[in-house]
Amino acid sequence: MLKIGHEVVRPGKRYGEPDVTIPIPEELATVPGVPTNQREVDWYAREYPLETMNITERASRDWANTLRDQHVEMREIRKEHDKLNTNLIMATRESAEIEPSVEPTGDDITGSIKEKARQLGFLEVGITQYDTHYEYQSKRGFNRYPHAICLAFEQDFEPTQTIPSVDAEIVHSSTYRTQAAAALELANHVRGQGYHAQVIHSSDATGPIIAMMVAAGVGQQGACGYLLTPHSGNRQRLLMITTDANVTYDEPVDYGIHAFCQVCQVCVNRCPGRALMRDKIWWRGVEKNKLYFKRCRPVMARYLGCGICMKVCPVQKYGLKNVMDHYAATGQVLGKGTHDLEGYELEGKGYFGPGELPVFENDFFSSMPHGNADEWAFEQFKDKARAAGGEITDDLLEELRDQVARAMNLNSSDVLAMMAEEQDYI
Ligand code: SF4
Ligand code: SF4
Repeated sequence: MLKIGHEVVRPGKRYGEPDVTIPIPEELATVPGVPTNQREVDWYAREYPLETMNITERASRDWANTLRDQHVEMREIRKEHDKLNTNLIMATRESAEIEPSVEPTGDDITGSIKEKARQLGFLEVGITQYDTHYEYQSKRGFNRYPHAICLAFEQDFEPTQTIPSVDAEIVHSSTYRTQAAAALELANHVRGQGYHAQVIHSSDATGPIIAMMVAAGVGQQGACGYLLTPHSGNRQRLLMITTDANVTYDEPVDYGIHAFCQVCQVCVNRCPGRALMRDKIWWRGVEKNKLYFKRCRPVMARYLGCGICMKVCPVQKYGLKNVMDHYAATGQVLGKGTHDLEGYELEGKGYFGPGELPVFENDFFSSMPHGNADEWAFEQFKDKARAAGGEITDDLLEELRDQVARAMNLNSSDVLAMMAEEQDYI
């Protein structure tokens, strides 16, 4: 039995269930939240502000959508989701402007917010400062309020275990919509206490959301790039409400995940794209496992959104308490090496059990477009001109003009179709 360094107590999984105590073996203790060099975080935010990959990697996003749309069911899921989600996004955008329905009492309403969030079905809720270090350039000024209510909504267990699959994609999309509707309700609750509340929809995020989730003690980032929370690991969707209410901030927590991932490595070993890093690096002032975007998106685009790194995570499957209990008792990672945890099927390629990975053609990764849409249009223009012996024809110029015009239009107006960015792409 390993020596227990500290225990973390969290509310039970469902509203009204008793608290859960999670033992963290001493050898897995690092720091609450994530190792951070705040001076570097400040410097990068000032000199190299973040931007959404929906803009900076627009070319590959459009390419991925085109590939997905060749799959009939995926195309229908996306169409249905866009139709239903658009109204929710519009409602969240209006939420910042809605005035509170009563005068504020001045009381701290942290307890009331958390109670209501749990009643509405949110798995985790924590509160922290809205941190502009993690704000996209294009979203500056979008958020109106200083405090961030950080929320996690569970994605159903069963369909997630079939990843990558059409069923998993359906539940993935519907969870975003359900949590947005619940968040609008929670914002009404805040207004009913006399304060403003702005729901920031996941498809309309002002920045990578994980940093504030970690600061609010909701979880820690795993080697898969997702936030891992105690009850469902990475099997949840994240969202934020900002407010000017009188609230108390939570503290980051050491769930042992930062060190446990270095032992576990299941997602790293099982990723079909070899897109996950074994070791952590320092990136923009934070120590973490970075994700190779250029090796992930080509797999996601061709295999039903992939998500295998979610499916194979033991914390997702068994919960952090069971994983930590097992590790403390045996020094082993629960489920590691089993078909149940690690096995997956790729459509058209077959089943891959523990230790088995698919092999892809040479151009599987290199054929993906890169950069934003106008950069990619210019790359293609140059390639075609070279292929034509350096001749720049009127047709080529016409094509470039059309593509750049489209890119400029996309960058400014096509935001309702943005994809949520909850994995570590930034
Ligand atoms: S989504 Fe798939 S390809 Fe991307 S990191 Fe996860 S397992 Fe790898
Ligand atoms: S699979 Fe293992 S290494 Fe990957 S995020 Fe989950 S716990 Fe961490």
